[in-house]
Order: sequence, then C-alpha cells, then structure tokens
Amino acid sequence: MDVLLVEDDDTIAEPLIAGLARYGFTVERVRTGRAALTAAPADMVLLDLGLPDMDGIDVCRQLRGGSAIPIIMITARGEEIERVVGLELGADDYLSKPFGLRELVARIRAVARRTAPASGAPGQPGAEQVLGNVRIDRRTRQVHVHKVLVALSPKEFDLLAVLAEDPGAVYSRQHLLDTVWDPHYFGPTKTLDVHVAALRRKLGAPALIETLRGVGFRLTAGGDTGPGVP
Ligand code: CA
Repeated sequence: MDVLLVEDDDTIAEPLIAGLARYGFTVERVRTGRAALTAAPADMVLLDLGLPDMDGIDVCRQLRGGSAIPIIMITARGEEIERVVGLELGADDYLSKPFGLRELVARIRAVARRTAPASGAPGQPGAEQVLGNVRIDRRTRQVHVHKVLVALSPKEFDLLAVLAEDPGAVYSRQHLLDTVWDPHYFGPTKTLDVHVAALRRKLGAPALIETLRGVGFRLTAGGDTGPGVP
C-alpha cells in the first residue's frame, strides 16, 4: 500500500516513515499542503493539520474534492474543532499526537478495510460482497446465508470481513489478531479459534474457512456452503 505522508516536522515524519516501512507500507512524504495536492496518487493520505503553507483543513477539502482517497488526519492536542470539521469534510479517521506506530497501523488497516470497494460493485464503499451463498454487507455489517440474516458478534463479523477481503488468500493468525482484535492484543490466541468455530457454525458452512495448521486461515474459493441453494 502506498501512503502519502503530509508532515512538515522531521522528528515526527522520519520515525513514521521507517516504522511504516517495517509494516510493508511504501511512504512518500511531503512537507507542505501544496506538495500534497500535486503528489502522485497514493492509496491513503496521512495528513498533518499543522502545515507551514496551508491550513490542513483546506488540504483535506481539496483532496476530497478531487478523489475518494482515504484520509487520516493527524492533529495536535487542542484541535478538536479542526478535527470535527475535518471529519465533516470527509476525512476517514483522525489520530491525536502523540500516538504509537501500532495504533496508526491499526487505523490505516481499519480505514483501508472500511473504504475498500467490495467486489460486485466497484467504487461503491460498503457495497455487498457475495461468496457462494454468503452475502456480506460491510455498510450495514449484516451477513445473510441463503438470504437469511445471520446474527454475528462484532468480532465475528470483523473476522469474516477481513478473510473476505481476498478470498482464497491465507491470513496469518497474527495478522488476524492484529486487525480484528488490536495490536496490543496479548491474550490467548485461542480466542481466534473460538471465533472461527462460531463463524463456521453460524454460517452453516464448516468448509468455508480453512485452517492452515500453524499458519492461519483462509476462505475456500467460491464459499461453497453446501446444499440448499434456493
Ligand atoms: Ca506540523
């Protein structure tokens, strides 16, 4: 994922660039609002509101005016009003300084998940995704199996949504714990297995989620949920 970091302060930007690189992000960094508006397209923008040449709010507004790129605002303390205005202007999330790298990574992943176009309706955030007989609606956080609404817990839904981002791809246990739970999750990893088991049961499709022992989980291609296709 390519991240555009708009931050004039080297003491903040440099560790962030190094840290995000460790998580596999490619970071392009600019120091001014004007440079942000002319930068190459990225997958996400991290936007500091305190910039030397422009109000970060105006940068947010202009970025949003031209594209649907996800924007996470970075605010200093005492910028509550700017934060609210920024969210109204279409920023997807915000972080207050100081913040930890893992918190930032979790926010980036969460925003990327929320804003990812679902298959079947390109460009429509929150559109429905259909996997065999399972229909996932990220906008309403509802899951239907054979057109019947299935009651999932928030974590069960999040887990399914992450696995469904790329059906067939293997997601490691640590990645799932980091994204669905939180980066500071140090509890028993058994929790993950319990949720996978509940998902399999509730979806009525034990084979939908495949266990790769010692590695992680993935959705089986096509999401076959067995007999009973209406
Ligand atoms: Ca600044």
